[in-house]
Parts: sequence; structure tokens; C-alpha cells
Amino acid sequence: MTEQISKQKHPKGLWVLFGTEMWERFNFYGMRTILTLFIVNALMMSEEQSSIIYGGFLGLCYLTPMLGGFIADKFLGNRLCIMMGGLLMATGQMLLFFSASIFSSDLELARTLLYIALGTIILGNGFFKPNISSMVSNLYPKAERNKLDTAFTIFYLGINLGAFLGQLICPLIGDVVVDGVRNIYAFKWGYLAASIAMVIGVLTFFFLKDKYVVTPEGRPIGGLPSKNDAEDFEEGESQSAVFTSKSLGLAVVAFIGLGLLFFYVFGQNVIYSIIYASGISLAGLILSDSSLTKVERDRVLVIYIVSFFIIFFWAAFEQAGSSLTFIANNQTNRNFFGWEMPPSMVQIFNGIFVIMFAIPFSILWDKLRAKGKEPISPVKQAIGLALIAISYFIIANNVKNLGNEGLLAIHWLILLYLIQTFGELCLSPIGLSLVGKLAPKRFSSLLYGVFFLSNASGYALAGTLGSILPATGDKFTKANELGIDLQAVLDKKIIPTADQLSLLAENKIRANNPTFAGFTIHNLYEFFMVFVILCGIASILLFMLTPKLKKMMHGIK
Ligand code: GLN
Repeated sequence: MTEQISKQKHPKGLWVLFGTEMWERFNFYGMRTILTLFIVNALMMSEEQSSIIYGGFLGLCYLTPMLGGFIADKFLGNRLCIMMGGLLMATGQMLLFFSASIFSSDLELARTLLYIALGTIILGNGFFKPNISSMVSNLYPKAERNKLDTAFTIFYLGINLGAFLGQLICPLIGDVVVDGVRNIYAFKWGYLAASIAMVIGVLTFFFLKDKYVVTPEGRPIGGLPSKNDAEDFEEGESQSAVFTSKSLGLAVVAFIGLGLLFFYVFGQNVIYSIIYASGISLAGLILSDSSLTKVERDRVLVIYIVSFFIIFFWAAFEQAGSSLTFIANNQTNRNFFGWEMPPSMVQIFNGIFVIMFAIPFSILWDKLRAKGKEPISPVKQAIGLALIAISYFIIANNVKNLGNEGLLAIHWLILLYLIQTFGELCLSPIGLSLVGKLAPKRFSSLLYGVFFLSNASGYALAGTLGSILPATGDKFTKANELGIDLQAVLDKKIIPTADQLSLLAENKIRANNPTFAGFTIHNLYEFFMVFVILCGIASILLFMLTPKLKKMMHGIK
């Protein structure tokens, strides 16, 4: 692949999109490092609440791309949507900056601003994310589509270079902990940096797009759809899916019914219910199209099956910004070669490892392909799930004997991110290209929508799972200072008085162990084992299904 990257000539526009996406991911991931810590330490909400907000936020960020893709295709075109999305995100970060500037004088207003800011970023991301990726593929005329794998590898590097820079800068200036005391007035600088990064991204795109983001003949890519000419489409190509009003009606009914089911029967919050219901009803809508041939239907089903399994991957992976950051904050020895690393920065290892290993992984697949031994995509995805299960198994065994006071050594978290990154590289870029290869063209954006919705569902599940984090060491120490034996309370050996209960609540300490699917989570070991079991089972089932999936892919690898 390295050879391929240096040999293949890529359009200059790729580098403009690379730079734009790099600054955007700086803004997104940089903000993500400090978000939950800000909500807990400055806005004085509980870790549980903050995990739920985090999951809802990320989930919605992957729900809105459907809308953004639709608006771009029908009305505004990619270019306008990218700039609008970028400006919205920069505005959202400024609102977070304001929230983080005023929380000490007006906590209520600061909390309101948080929600408005996150809403603005969600909308912005919806306009930005699908359009930048589709512009990457549109840079390549049909005859050069074989360069797409490499193009997306380069683009994935841009994503992670941005993530790395954001995860370096925002914690350095925004998560300032001196002698164990956090400066809660510093968060705002992290948000300001994120906002500035996004503005740089928009300016890069604005000034360079007309010169470089063009077809080989020099026609602009991603302009207004009304200005598309026939040359933009293949001959006889049906440009969009046509659904009967009956199937559209049914999809709406299914969406409402499923939403109510998730809300009332499964006890999910409104946002999570919307995410799960839209994923399933959109998937059903596409299958209802009578023009689908048997082969197409099989291939679409493969996309659905894979999408279902990877929900568990993202649910485990996205613990990075919530429970894993809380553990880094509360119960980790963060001494990194003599330097005390800010807790929010520990996430940076994911970006670093992607940058280090994205190309070696491509080379590995190339080599295996040359020998005829490259596994089919669902096998790679099952490997990704197995890797994430292993990463949590290792950490579970390391926290097992920590007790309530011991600290986890930072290198275990680094190892966890290394193994998870290997999993990501088996699953994430592979998934994106699998959808591209399997989707009938007329359903391509919608099926990307379904695929992103499975990411969204994974993130929502990540929020639910993050919120079952049991008490970490800091809670036991704090309860001890308050004269309460928290372990005895949790074990129901003593019944706390009303005063003690309110003291615990004031300090955002739970008086009960959390539960998940009827099981009580007593300690960090059991918490991590939830991920081992969920992802482990998902991996085994997906492995078992692969011979069947291979047949259903009808020749596509
Ligand atoms: N880290 C990648 C990105 O930000 C992939 C995230 C995802 O697909 N859920 O684009």
C-alpha cells in the first residue's frame, strides 16, 4: 500500500479534503476529550448523567448525516453543506466556550448553553460528515475507482491526524490538573481551540475548493444539484430509489411503533428510542422496494447483518470518552515517563496508533490478497469484535485485584487502546468499503445511512453501558471522608440514614450498585466483563455466520 500510495497519482483535491477533514476531526475529537469531565466537574452533573448525554450526543451525530446527505443530494450540494456544517460546528464550540466561561456565576444558563451547543454541533456534523466522504469518492471518475481503497486509507489518516492533534491540544490547555487539583476554569480554552480549528478547516476548504476540488476536466465537484449535467451520471442509471406511498407509510408507522416500544417497554430515553427506531424502519423501507433482485436483496441483508453486529463494537469502543476517561481520571496512575498526563489525554493513543498502523494493515491485506488468503470482510469484522473483547478481558483482569484504593497503571489503558485500534482497523474502514461494494447504486446513500445508524445505535448503547460504571476508588475515598463506609452500604450490610443518603447524593455518589439486563454490577471487573461477554458473543456468532454470508455476497469479497 505504501508503494501504491507513492506510485498512484491522486488528485490534489484529495489533499484539500484531507486538510478540511483533519481540522474538523480536531474540533470533534478535541472537544470529546474534555466533554464528560466538563459536565461532571464544572456543570456539576453526575458521571451517570454525563455518560447518557455523551451517548445521546454521539448517537445523534451519526443520525443527522442521513438528513445532511439527503439535503445535499436534493437541494444544496456537497460544497455548501460542508461549509454550513463547519460553521455550525464552530458556533457550537463557541457556545461551549461561553458555557464554560459562565458556569460559576450562572449554572442554569451554562447547562442550557451546553444543550444548545451540542444540538448545534449535531446539526453541523450531519451536514459535514456524509458530504466530505462522498466528495472523496466523487473525485475519482469511474475508470479510477480502483484507487478508492488507497484514497480512503489516506483520508482515514487525515481523520486520525486531526483526532490526534485535537486530543493533544485540547487536554493540554483545557484539562489542567495541578497537584491533583483540577482548574475547572480551563475547560473553556479547549473549546476555543476546537472552534478555531473548525474555522481553519472551513477557510481551507473555502479558498482551495474552486482550484483543486474539481473533475479532471476542471468542472467543480459537489456544486448545486440543480446545476448537475447529464455527464455526472452513467447512462441509464436510475438516480434514486422510488418508494411507493404504501411502503413509506408503513415505514412511518413502524418508526412510531418501534419508538414507543423502545421508550415504554425497554425504558430507553427519547433520543435513544428515536435512533434505534429510525435504524430499523429505514432498513425495512429499503427491503420493501420491489425492484430489488434476489442477488441485491441478499447483499443488502449482508449489510444489515454486519451492521447489527458492529453495534456492539462501537458500544465498547466509545467508552473512550466516558467510562474509560472517568477511570483514567479517578483510579489510574497517569505517570507517563515521569510526566503526569491529563486524564482526558489518555484517549490520544487511539489516534496515534491509527496513524502508526493504518498503512501496515493495508499492506497486510494486500499481501494476504496476493496469496489468495485475504479473509472476506465479515471475517475481518468478527476479528475486530474479538480484539475488542480481548482488550477488555485484559483490563478486567488488571482491575480485579485493585480493590477500592489501588490505582490502575496507565500502560494497561495504552495497551487497551492499542488492541482496540487493531480492532478498529479490521472493522471500520473495511465496513465503509463493504457497504460501497454491496449496495445497489440507487440505494447507496440510504444504505450508508443505515450503516451510520448502526454506528449511532452503538453510541447510544455506549451511553447506556457507560452509565453502569460502578463506584471507582475516588468515590470510596470521598465517602470515607464523609464518615460513610460505602462498601458496606453497597453490600447492603448497613442501611444508610437519610442524612447519609443526601450527603452521598450531594457528592454524586450512588448508594446502590448499577444494574444491566437484570444483573447487578458490583465492581470494575464485572463492568469490563460486560463488554467481554457482549463483544465475545457477537464475534463468535458473526464467525459462525460467515459461510452463509459469503454465499449471500454473491462473489463480492
Ligand atoms: N474515527 C472515525 C471517524 O471519526 C470512525 C468513526 C465511526 O465510524 N464511528 O470518522
